[in-house]
Amino acid sequence: MELNVLLDNVPGVYSPADVELIQRAFRVAEMAHTGQTRASGEPYINHCLAVAQILLDLRVPPAVVAAGLLHDTVEDTPIKIADIEREFGTEIARLVDGVTKLDSLPRVSRSDNAELDPVDEESARAREKSRKAELANETLRKTFLAMGDDIRVVIIKLADRLHNMRTLGYMPDEKRRRIAKQTLEIFAPLANRLGIWQLKWELEDLSLRYSEPDAYKEIARSLAERRSQRETQMSRIVEELHEMLAENGIPAEVSGRPKHIYSIYKKMYRKGVVFDQVHDVRAVRIIVKDVPSCYSVLGLIHTHWRPIPGEFDDYIAVPKDNFYQSLHTAVMFEDGKTLEVQIRTVEMHENAEYGIAAHWRYKEGKSRDADYERRVMYLRQLTDWIQDVDDAGEFVDGLKTDVFGDRVYAFTPAGDIIDLPAGATPIDFAYHVHTEVGHRCRGAKVNGKLVSLDTALATGDKVEILTAKRGGPSRDWLNAHLGLVRTNRARSKVRYWFKRQDMDQNVNHGKAQLERELRRLGIGEISLDKLARDFNLKNAEDLYLAIGIGDLSLSRVVNHLTLTERGKKDFDELPPFLRDAEPAETVTFGGDGVVVQGLKGLLSTMAKCCNPAPGDEIVGYITRGRGATIHRKDCPNALRARDRERLVRVRWGETQTTYPVAVRLQAYDRDGLLRDVSTIIAEENINMSQVKIDVKQNRAVFDMTLDVANINQLIRVLAKLESLPNVMEARRLRPG
Ligand code: MN
Repeated sequence: MELNVLLDNVPGVYSPADVELIQRAFRVAEMAHTGQTRASGEPYINHCLAVAQILLDLRVPPAVVAAGLLHDTVEDTPIKIADIEREFGTEIARLVDGVTKLDSLPRVSRSDNAELDPVDEESARAREKSRKAELANETLRKTFLAMGDDIRVVIIKLADRLHNMRTLGYMPDEKRRRIAKQTLEIFAPLANRLGIWQLKWELEDLSLRYSEPDAYKEIARSLAERRSQRETQMSRIVEELHEMLAENGIPAEVSGRPKHIYSIYKKMYRKGVVFDQVHDVRAVRIIVKDVPSCYSVLGLIHTHWRPIPGEFDDYIAVPKDNFYQSLHTAVMFEDGKTLEVQIRTVEMHENAEYGIAAHWRYKEGKSRDADYERRVMYLRQLTDWIQDVDDAGEFVDGLKTDVFGDRVYAFTPAGDIIDLPAGATPIDFAYHVHTEVGHRCRGAKVNGKLVSLDTALATGDKVEILTAKRGGPSRDWLNAHLGLVRTNRARSKVRYWFKRQDMDQNVNHGKAQLERELRRLGIGEISLDKLARDFNLKNAEDLYLAIGIGDLSLSRVVNHLTLTERGKKDFDELPPFLRDAEPAETVTFGGDGVVVQGLKGLLSTMAKCCNPAPGDEIVGYITRGRGATIHRKDCPNALRARDRERLVRVRWGETQTTYPVAVRLQAYDRDGLLRDVSTIIAEENINMSQVKIDVKQNRAVFDMTLDVANINQLIRVLAKLESLPNVMEARRLRPG
């Protein structure tokens, strides 16, 4: 690609000075990258030009395009930020600096303990892998921190990622898959959250192409086969709609809406339908001049063709949470097949395609600036907890729930809508209403009924929070295993509350929590000062404090204890976790070592036609009455399967080793206690291999042997057992 091509596409609103700026940025970038090539063998500058082209298509301001051309200079060439600033001014320098900071290698993480020599090659590889993952997460964390400062930096980053995805084919296979997965999990949802459909769909399609190459090829092939037939069909439909609207005096632009491969893939696999079922649904888009016309068009369509019940959505009156607006409906068309219709104004269309970047497309009109501010505010709100999280892994989990996850909309008694991530509890709701309401939340009524505080709210729920006159949150709310608080926003507010408490109190609480956990798990005699140093803390007291204010979670501490123990270098004085417990049994689900996801325990057999072997990509086919047959993913029989809804995702199972652990639970006896205990154990998929119950007067002691897979599972089940009514204590019995 050449500069001329780029300049040919410059939007009309750019002035000659803007064009000159872009030319200058190009010259500097070209000189800086001289001699560098991409993995494809192309000159490096082509990447910079491609990124600038993607940005130009979004019609971002010229300074952003210039920064796009320069985005890799500071990272990869001798050019310094100061040079850029001298040459191009502070604004562009700041943008380039922002993108560079995202890419530069982050600090060495705390848990990356350099003194620990890898014991063997395998654990060295595992450690390297987790280090890489952590670095990637850290980059993401920075991306989002940058988003708070300047959205434009993130848009450059997305353009960069898109071009990297387009050229991913030149990367080694393993890297390809890793990058594709990350793009699908983080960058495509990010583009979606910013409302930039133009970037989102292409990121998704490219991710699928590299993460599920077979499925991608299969869908692309089917699409190509049916293309011409579909095009004739679509042009007939479009023509008919056009005529109908013209007869009624409504000027409108009607077009067929292409389906993207990833969206077809999602429908096929999530809804378990065959390609033709997805493909048979035609979709059109009607663009009109104003909102009243949208509703007129809707009325006309519903009188001409029979609307399909349940398919009408009014996203004009109630926009989606990325500010998307449109009317959606589906009707039964003359040929008896479904026709999906989207109706929107020109402005809504720009918004739907370019999202937050639409703001730059038209310079006139103040309403767009107000819109932009609203979007930026909303993103800030979604991400206001980010500053408080410095564990990169925790951060990425938070992102997936708080920012990218599905949303639920619940109502206050006054009828205000509270927008929450799916899975949010009444306590999350309370904190979203007001921090004080959160702190003093003691109970909740959902739709008039008292519920427990770990209940997940659903859209449409009316939630009434019962508050205490004074007092603060409970420390249990920070215990992730209890699931009382699920949003990071609420969690950071709870933490903040505890941080403000008196230091001694926090130390005491932290100490009590840690001691209780260690006692529960039967871990004793460890050097707490040494443990503290592993977390870069001075001494045991600081360790207690960090736990007390919620900066350091107990599960991280316990994980660390068990992990270093596997590393075998340090902590010789530690009584090894589960040293006394010999592996009891090897559980294999579904025979032949195959785990059938979602159908655990289903009898499965290997298909004779393709004889899958461990390591092959596989797919399951549910047979009538004989369980599942496992085929290779590329097996022609599986690909040709008529009943596609019988195809299920499967993967090779790991044989799971469990350890018998003696657990004692003490409680005041009550009706239903045993049932509650066994329900919790069953929900964790733990096998209870022995149980002895001793009831004297009203005191009950349960001595159980639980076959647990790992320490996290043990921690979780003990915490859940202890939170049952009437239970005083649930802990692991010390051996001997
Ligand atoms: Mn780049």
